[in-house]
Amino acid sequence: MSRPAVIVKKGPRSRSGSPWIFANEIRMDQAKALPPGTAVNVRGDDGRDIGTGIFNAKSLIAVRLLAPECGVALDADFFASRIGKALALRQRFYDKPFYRLVHGEGDHLPGLVIDRFDDTLTVQAGTAGMEMLLEPLLAGLEKLLSPRNVILRNDAPARNLEGLPLYVRSAKGAARRLQLEENAAPYFAALTEGQKTGWYYDQRDNRAFIAALAKGKSVLDACSYTGGFGILAAKAGASEAVCLDSSAPALALAEDSARANGVAIKPVKADLFEELERLSATREAFDIVVADPPPFVKSKKDLEAGARAYRKMARLSAEVTAKDGILLLASCSHNISPERFAAECAAGIARTGRAARLIRAAGAGPDHPVHPLLPESAYLKALVYALD
Ligand code: SAH
Repeated sequence: MSRPAVIVKKGPRSRSGSPWIFANEIRMDQAKALPPGTAVNVRGDDGRDIGTGIFNAKSLIAVRLLAPECGVALDADFFASRIGKALALRQRFYDKPFYRLVHGEGDHLPGLVIDRFDDTLTVQAGTAGMEMLLEPLLAGLEKLLSPRNVILRNDAPARNLEGLPLYVRSAKGAARRLQLEENAAPYFAALTEGQKTGWYYDQRDNRAFIAALAKGKSVLDACSYTGGFGILAAKAGASEAVCLDSSAPALALAEDSARANGVAIKPVKADLFEELERLSATREAFDIVVADPPPFVKSKKDLEAGARAYRKMARLSAEVTAKDGILLLASCSHNISPERFAAECAAGIARTGRAARLIRAAGAGPDHPVHPLLPESAYLKALVYALD
């Protein structure tokens, strides 16, 4: 296929197999005139093929490789086949059609995230290349799944780094609020107004782990969003499930979902740190505390401030965890390493003088595969401690 070529400065031998090629690795003098998102053949300076990729001179990650051969057609069949592979993997884990269907680089589709809610899909194109390929992508989805509704949730702030506009629109049908099923529990999700793609499938296994410990226990689900942890814990027999979040619409959905499960939750609209401080000052404690905040380290330059915030969260959460309680601390920032996050959690808990045992160190579930050469794609960290 005739398409522009981009040359990597040091031939393919220097490449490790990562799907990312950085701007400083590329002969930019020729490439920089290409419009953002152009499909390119990537070659080494010795003329050897590196692969088919998409190029954006405006991004630090200038090339994202889609295939290890040059000239691969990026058409509906390409997407149907790639997404088909992702689908087959999910179908080995889940018997219901509710999961992250495509997890970007981890599914060899850099820049693309698709969540599946039965016959409704939310699609996020994170790069100029994926934005340009939306038409064959949607045609590929049609071939593979012929979904009823397809919502483009192209409002992730990271799109700014690619020079892309932020928007949400329906590409097919229309679905605002729907019911999904996870861990055999029904939940509501608002796909167009909700955060991210409307539901966080990544915590599925961690929610089940906590629920299994919850019978007869009081639970604080801090940064609950729509009640993922708290409702499952209540369903498993928790004596009390408090869902704390700063978002009133998220808590309203949590209450609806609780009703659909035949359980009650106590919604509390408050700021995480203010509420933890208040609970700690009044010596209120819960047998199980989950703290799953928004990313505190949004970019590398926020690392130190974000790390301090995680340490403070760990300290305050431990303070409101009852004797012999369980504490789950999570981070969805890919800009803090698992080691650093664990160190901050340990330091925060230690400040309370409580002895702790780490009983689970987990990430996202298997519908969020990690590219082995891109540790950044393992963004979620969830540490569970048993406190004395
Ligand atoms: N635990 C949730 C996901 C949490 S996402 C689940 O299982 O689905 C992070 C949540 O933190 C969002 O719902 C957001 O509204 C909330 N949040 C953001 N800033 C907050 C703050 N300062 N205080 C309390 N909640 C906050």
